Amino acid sequence: MNSESNNDTVNDAAPLVTAEGEALPSDPRRLRYTEIATPSAGDHVEIAAHVRWARVPLPIDLNHINLWFIEDAEGCIAVDTGMAAPMCTQAWEQFDRSLLQRKPLKGLFVTHVHPDHMGLAQWVQERYGVPVWMSNQSLNLARAVYVDRLPSSEMVEAFLRTHGVIDVETLKPMFKPERFSRMTSGLPQVERFIEDGDTLKCSTTSWSVLRTDGHAEGHLCLFEPGGNLLISGDQVLPTISSNISIMLQHGDTNPLRSYLLSLERLRQLPSDTLVLPSHGKPFIGLQQRIDDLRSHHESQLSKLLKACTEPKTAFELLPILFRRELAGMHFFLALGEAVAHLEYLACDERLAREVSDNVTRYRSVV
Ligand SMILES: [Zn+2]
Repeated sequence: MNSESNNDTVNDAAPLVTAEGEALPSDPRRLRYTEIATPSAGDHVEIAAHVRWARVPLPIDLNHINLWFIEDAEGCIAVDTGMAAPMCTQAWEQFDRSLLQRKPLKGLFVTHVHPDHMGLAQWVQERYGVPVWMSNQSLNLARAVYVDRLPSSEMVEAFLRTHGVIDVETLKPMFKPERFSRMTSGLPQVERFIEDGDTLKCSTTSWSVLRTDGHAEGHLCLFEPGGNLLISGDQVLPTISSNISIMLQHGDTNPLRSYLLSLERLRQLPSDTLVLPSHGKPFIGLQQRIDDLRSHHESQLSKLLKACTEPKTAFELLPILFRRELAGMHFFLALGEAVAHLEYLACDERLAREVSDNVTRYRSVV
């Protein structure tokens, strides 16, 4: 472990804003990043006994995802896939020619519904004839987001107007739900739903499943107590604050609360846990990172409380939370994140909701 690699980690992993959230690196002195060099796209390296760290490039702002291959004598299990894009399938073809020659793929575990994590799940299943495991909630959400219930433009418009957006016509074309479908190869046949408290067993390692909601409903982390390894998905990232949103089709009405509670749960893991995040470099310092993420959200909440002495919409509050221009999908993610923070405070009765003409405003409760 050293600190030299930290600078390139920040550059490598965290553009200023990403679809997953926004750049929020911890002070490099608070985390100990692995000394193992980051594998290049389509390559892989041993990160711990029986676990390989692989990289798949992504054609989005966030330019990569980490996959994990859990090995035993007979083969390996992959964790996550990349999205349905040629650069991602090319990376898998590279895995075919190297790792998977030696260790045939035996199964696929999906941490959560987002397209960079499960976009190639069906493709991988068909190509290798392997079972797919994920949470029931993730599959339900995938059906909603990618197949069945794409929001109509009326739903998008209603959501925007409710939260104070006036110039709806300009914004509507930016939100193209069909984009999500194009990022996935289709839905896999899930052989077994994995839930909190289950165990994912390889002959060499045994992984406890932890459900960690907030960023995505049904998000699962894997913890291996023998080696103190945490496959953290997008729940804990070293340089990005994961997007926590209330958007269309969101079943969880208080995702920030879910997120903070699940962080608290992860905080109980051993302090020497090696965190294997989906984006950025593996690191030790789970508790420090969780403290930084929690402080960030507490700071955002207190800014909102101060700003809401007069009733305000989520749209009016965006400049308080985000000091940058919000374009395209980033606008929707930021609005969703603002609503999640406002609803957290409203559920806590620190803000009151005032609805008039179908517009929701939030006011501090004195
Ligand atoms: Zn995600």
